Amino acid sequence: MKVSFCGACREVTGSCILIETKKSKFLVDCGMFQDEETYFKNENFSFNPSEIDFVLLTHAHVDHCGRIPKLYREGFKGNVYLTEPTKRIAEAMLLDSARIFLKEKENSPLYFEDDVNKAVNNFVSLEYNKEKTVSPDVKIKLKDAGHVLGSCIFEIATEGKQVVFSGDLGNDSSPIVRNPEIINGANIVFIESTYGASFHDSREAGRKQLKDAINDTIKNNGILMIPVFALERSQEIIFELKRLLVKGETPFVPVFFDSPLAITITDIYRDFIHLFDEQAFELMKKGEDLFDFRGLKYVKKPNQYKKISAIKGAKIVLAGSGMCNGGRIGGYLKKHLNNSKNKLLLVAFQVEGTLGNSLANGAKTVTIDKKNIKVKADVSSIRSFSSHGDQGQIIKWISNIQKPKPSNIFIVHGEEESSLELGKKIKEKLGLNCVVPFYEKIYEI
Ligand SMILES: [Zn+2]
Repeated sequence: MKVSFCGACREVTGSCILIETKKSKFLVDCGMFQDEETYFKNENFSFNPSEIDFVLLTHAHVDHCGRIPKLYREGFKGNVYLTEPTKRIAEAMLLDSARIFLKEKENSPLYFEDDVNKAVNNFVSLEYNKEKTVSPDVKIKLKDAGHVLGSCIFEIATEGKQVVFSGDLGNDSSPIVRNPEIINGANIVFIESTYGASFHDSREAGRKQLKDAINDTIKNNGILMIPVFALERSQEIIFELKRLLVKGETPFVPVFFDSPLAITITDIYRDFIHLFDEQAFELMKKGEDLFDFRGLKYVKKPNQYKKISAIKGAKIVLAGSGMCNGGRIGGYLKKHLNNSKNKLLLVAFQVEGTLGNSLANGAKTVTIDKKNIKVKADVSSIRSFSSHGDQGQIIKWISNIQKPKPSNIFIVHGEEESSLELGKKIKEKLGLNCVVPFYEKIYEI
């Protein structure tokens, strides 16, 4: 079969792999390029969408699903196979993207709300671990990837081969979703490498950093700004804040959750507690809401940052986007970055070229909405709340694949150095052949 890499090669965003077997042509993910420098790649597909039979969607992050409505707009008529939570979350995420396209004037919209609705009508949800024949020569099985709610690994049987796509692979220490499921055997594996060159700090170290940041904010009577992605990171940070505040590990401080999309997604999480990690499931089953506590305020109305900023005393604000480029966090950053009593805590991966990345790298001045702002607030990063496995976890997951052992590992979804470093380590430790593919290059497997 032929494999073409149409995104997320030697970069993190734009996941999209085209597979051509004798009787089928399909995509695994069809994500958006979110890096400013590669955004132009969103404009044209390198294949004809009307020739694609179906799409397999690993999870609802926009860098994996963000161009699916555009596929339909350009002639694709097939199904998208995914889990039920991914279906619900992807619908919310894609509608949000369509609205953002209309607001932003720099680029022309990739699609409109109507295209999203058309796409969602063709979403076919499947359960984990049940085999399904999706075309004359392709059978698929979904396994929990433990990355975000509903995320899956695809096991594919075609042309006598077992082919596995990891999608984004979760972090074993995530408290809400489960650990990534083990794969027994595979001939070919496609693996992500976001953290292919690094190891996470321990969760306890992250919790201590969060606790210290809250205590400092209270002492300074400042504002603690935490940019969050609407999916998973928001729910996880709310979970961690609840642990600290409700258990009395820090004094009481009000928390404002200023993200309507994240609030919608949190409601979806509440509908799928049977897919949670055992401990989180037990707590929710007993009636404890992991995503609510005294002092937490859900903010749906727009433009509330001035009102919230004017409330006296220390406070915590969670708002999108997780990389600070756009979203409601912008209002808070403009108002509070130039004051040393405030704090900015980055809890997510910051793609090169984003405002979050500049801030993480110590920028002294930043431009937001064409305004130059001096950065006097303390900026720090927590490197343990990731929803991706680190180098050690990825290698351990691959080492569990025994019968058959993969003859080839294709490494995608990582900055170039991360992908190359992961390849080097897999070869050294497991003796497996690795390929870090190039964008739009075709490989025969
Ligand atoms: Zn993801």
